Amino acid sequence: MHQLTLAETARALAAKEFSAVELTRGLLARIRQLDPQLNSFITVTEEPALAQAAAADARRAAGENGALLGAPLAHKDLFCTKGVLTTCASKILANFQAPYDATVVEKLAAAGAVSLGKLNMDEFAMGSASESSHFGAVKNPWDTSRVAGGSSGGSAAAVAARLISAATGTDTGGSIRQPAALTNLTGIKPTYGRVSRWGMIAYASSLDQGGPLARTAEDCALLLGTMAGFDPKDSTCVDAPVDDYLAMLNQPLAGLRIGLPKEYFGEGLDARIAEKVLAVVEELKKLGATVKDISLPNMQHAIPAYYVIAPAEASSNLSRFDGVRFGYRCENPVNLEDLYKRSRGEGFGAEVKRRIMVGTYALSAGYYDAYYLKAQKIRRLIKNDFVQAFSEVDVILGPTTPNPAWKLGEKSADPVSAYLEDIYTITANLAGIPGLSMPAGFVDGLPVGVQLLAPYFQEARLLNVAHQYQQVSDWHTRTPAGF
Ligand code: GLN
Repeated sequence: MHQLTLAETARALAAKEFSAVELTRGLLARIRQLDPQLNSFITVTEEPALAQAAAADARRAAGENGALLGAPLAHKDLFCTKGVLTTCASKILANFQAPYDATVVEKLAAAGAVSLGKLNMDEFAMGSASESSHFGAVKNPWDTSRVAGGSSGGSAAAVAARLISAATGTDTGGSIRQPAALTNLTGIKPTYGRVSRWGMIAYASSLDQGGPLARTAEDCALLLGTMAGFDPKDSTCVDAPVDDYLAMLNQPLAGLRIGLPKEYFGEGLDARIAEKVLAVVEELKKLGATVKDISLPNMQHAIPAYYVIAPAEASSNLSRFDGVRFGYRCENPVNLEDLYKRSRGEGFGAEVKRRIMVGTYALSAGYYDAYYLKAQKIRRLIKNDFVQAFSEVDVILGPTTPNPAWKLGEKSADPVSAYLEDIYTITANLAGIPGLSMPAGFVDGLPVGVQLLAPYFQEARLLNVAHQYQQVSDWHTRTPAGF
């Protein structure tokens, strides 16, 4: 059962090959048996999952046949879940039970999906390796001595190891696409505003966007169709109709114009990854696509701009964690200031503190113009690069990451070396455009991903291209040994 994709699971459930309760029991047993090797879950919700599965079976017996009825998922642990721990992988929220469900959680539950628990991640989604979790690092099922990517590393590891069919993730600078690439999954970061952020604990509000990680583009289409859409509770959520992503999967690619940015194939890219990416391009050409060399000249400024803007927003968002209103409070404070200082000092991990300090500095009087405002100007230039590029091509294609999964601990002592791994993904967040990563093959047994970017609200196009590629390739069907 666990080897089926989400779409195959839906068909099997509809054909009554097994029930949602049987499936959920089977996966809970797999999680108990295998997750100690991966550490992908922070919380496993056995009882509520079985209750949701029984409810899904009952709805099906009553004649409903929604594709997500009984679909086994789990949520990144920054989506608020009513009555269930929502920790953001931080000590400061280690005991926090959200009083309400995030909109995404609510929508998937209403569609009949079964949530098996909450997934490990980088603390407050800050990182690219899921090593900064208060609950310990996530391990990559393709090689458990390596990272699973981040920050949605638990989501990626759990789906790649077939512990669940799909997972939610969030992407502020690559956190859906990069872990998807490093674990052989398909993941999509929608256009900013396409998916509600209500109930998603904020990291950098102008960049954060939720989306699915799954095995195939078809599964992502299935999930995004339910997750996307207007939410009056999120003022940045866009009130525009949601495309029928499933219906558009089968459009032929004849005439598709693909742009290959020269900046994506330059220095820093592992040559073996470049080779895999170009092999995908050749396949897409056989399906009728044409290729054009393009340039995104401001990409070189993306990392410094992102690592000013994201920490600036984080420093503001994280000021709400003060030891009074949420989560952890230090022992025996002598006065209010001591309570604030020690609760935050003891509650946040090193990377989170580093970013709060950088962000506070960048926003402070005297430095605001020099750093924050300047970074915002670069952000506009990066957006303009994409607008220009999309006047000539339909999608942009390149590698998702410059390297395959690295060894646990390898980059922890040098944060900048980890920041550089985000080079290909963060521009989509700065511009707000959608991006998808899909499996493109293996280098030394480790998965590599290809990234597709499209104009605003063209998620359907990305899913269509990925689905068509997945009809003529089988990378996405490969399973890590031992899982
Ligand atoms: N690696 C990036 C960061 O550390 C992106 C993280 C994310 O997308 N949440 O900020």
